[in-house]
Amino acid sequence: MIKFTLIENSLDSIKSGMDYLDYAEQKQSPSHYKKALLSLFQGTELILKEILVQIDPIIIFDKNSLFRNCESPLKPTIEELFDCKSIDINGICQELKKHYPEQFQRANLKVIQDLAKERNKIQHFAFETTPNDLKASLLKLYLMVIKPAMKIAGEKAALDTFVEGINRINFDEQATDVEESFLNVNKRDEFTKGGCCHCENYSLFIIYDGESFPIACYCTTCGFERTNIDMLEFYDCPECSAPSVIYDEKLGAGMCLWHRCADCMESVKTDMVPCDDCGGYLIEDSCLNCTVED
Ligand SMILES: [Zn+2]
Ligand SMILES: [Zn+2]
Ligand SMILES: [Zn+2]
Repeated sequence: MIKFTLIENSLDSIKSGMDYLDYAEQKQSPSHYKKALLSLFQGTELILKEILVQIDPIIIFDKNSLFRNCESPLKPTIEELFDCKSIDINGICQELKKHYPEQFQRANLKVIQDLAKERNKIQHFAFETTPNDLKASLLKLYLMVIKPAMKIAGEKAALDTFVEGINRINFDEQATDVEESFLNVNKRDEFTKGGCCHCENYSLFIIYDGESFPIACYCTTCGFERTNIDMLEFYDCPECSAPSVIYDEKLGAGMCLWHRCADCMESVKTDMVPCDDCGGYLIEDSCLNCTVED
């Protein structure tokens, strides 16, 4: 029961944190920068607790508090846990090092500790930073802490069929929304969203990064990913005529990344197979290289 609300609350806070950051940047609003930091940090704390709870709920509670309040501290009841104090961010970092050493290495933990300091400054002292520095730290928090934690939480959600609270589908949808808010801040207009041909979910992100063609794409639901796409990999799309189709080996077909084709709920594959004659591709049964003009 505890963990469902934890996940939901954490994804909620992370999403609003990103939205605050987006607003802060567009309007240059100091108070929204502050809200962004507070929400993102709170969301981080919650999702980190969530992945520790997945191992054992007692991990996130202060040991003294457990012994003081529970009859059998290693097997406390939910009611008893309500009276217990949970561990602080330093305690969380120590437990992460112990239980998830691969995902949370020294550099990742340092990002958490640095931002914890900034958060404390807001709460107890004056707080001063430049918008660019704060934005950079928060985006780092997302990439180096929140995303790895969401991946762990999502893998667990896939194994569970929750009766109430959040289930796998909700989790994926929320994680996709969070990623979109992140890209709004990090990439601005340099990305589009579309349907994924692999898993049929509307969670494919197509990244331009200043180029006139997509340089990468990835799906937050199934994990499909292509990076460093070369301009030469694109073929003309029979649907939209844009040179935006890339071949996908696993699919045994092409996928069009131009928003006119990609940006729909039902992703449509392009009929595309390697051409034995020239090493190029047959698109809808004809190969551009091998077609003889009459
Ligand atoms: Zn997918
Ligand atoms: Zn197309
Ligand atoms: Zn050919």
